[in-house]
Amino acid sequence: MANQGPRLKIVRRATLGIACVAAILGGPVLAHSAPARSAHTARAQAQSKSALTVPPFDATRAFDDLKRLTAFGPRTAGSPALAKTREWIERQLAAEGIKVDEDKFTASTPVGDIDMANLIVRVPGSSPNIVIVCGHYDTKRFDRFKFVGANDGGSSAAMLMELARAMAKRPMPYTLWFLWTDGEEAEREEWGGNDNDYGSRHLEERLASQGELNRVKAFILVDMIGDAKLDVRVDPGSTPWLTELEFGIAHQLGYDRYFLSNQQAAVGGDDYDPWLQAGVPSVDIIDFDYGPNPRSQPGDRDWNTYWHTAQDTVDHCSPQSLEIVGRVVLGMLQGLASSSHLR
Ligand SMILES: [Zn+2]
Repeated sequence: MANQGPRLKIVRRATLGIACVAAILGGPVLAHSAPARSAHTARAQAQSKSALTVPPFDATRAFDDLKRLTAFGPRTAGSPALAKTREWIERQLAAEGIKVDEDKFTASTPVGDIDMANLIVRVPGSSPNIVIVCGHYDTKRFDRFKFVGANDGGSSAAMLMELARAMAKRPMPYTLWFLWTDGEEAEREEWGGNDNDYGSRHLEERLASQGELNRVKAFILVDMIGDAKLDVRVDPGSTPWLTELEFGIAHQLGYDRYFLSNQQAAVGGDDYDPWLQAGVPSVDIIDFDYGPNPRSQPGDRDWNTYWHTAQDTVDHCSPQSLEIVGRVVLGMLQGLASSSHLR
């Protein structure tokens, strides 16, 4: 992902209203943050907690995928390495009976036209309404050093592979798409204008031109979620009800240490932008503090120091982080099954 720079400001805010998850979803209570007032309440809470079961997420396999992806080297849009990466993802999933579609297009960029391709796995459900889980699989171009993007590009691509395996044979009440975007990263060094989000914008525009965009009811984005020092903060640009679902599920799964509901991320732009601008509810699940200290803040010397550097390597990522975020996304997908927002 990329950041505009000037928005490096952390805002502390009250803890999200996690107890309101039921209201958000329009379904049964999924989570509760208030202390138990009686044995009955405690029992009800225990039952409520046990009611959330998420499909298995194989963190070891996901991390192996992250390592394999990183081993392709720099995977910039239009590069032979990204073409090989694409073929490899398709082969891995095809071996498990999961069909991957290519969504090819030519992007007009500041450095010329580039052939790109999104990857999409479609899991039909009982309704035509669509939930998209998205992450980019390209890495940012740097000429000054070798950038392999283990976290920024690798983690989202590996995460989607494992989520697709977990959900491919579990039809939901809605249609589920897994979307690997090409060309998320800017071709220029600085993020700005339309020089970013190429694949995401292409698909959003294509669905709009086909009159299909109104089928998309929620867009869940994962980015930079492999950081071994995981600290996912509230993204102020995301749609509030999806953010509350994200942090409510994280709380229910016991991940308050990693999902910091009282701190805001300083995200400046990402693949959800075209969807948000088109009115599609969207959330960015991102750990935009990739460095040695999981509690550093924008402006601190150790804040986000591995991001877009030669330090974005496998040894700064972990299977545990993929598992934590993967299980939160799986929990969100379960929650959406009974959400009034999907009707
Ligand atoms: Zn990036």
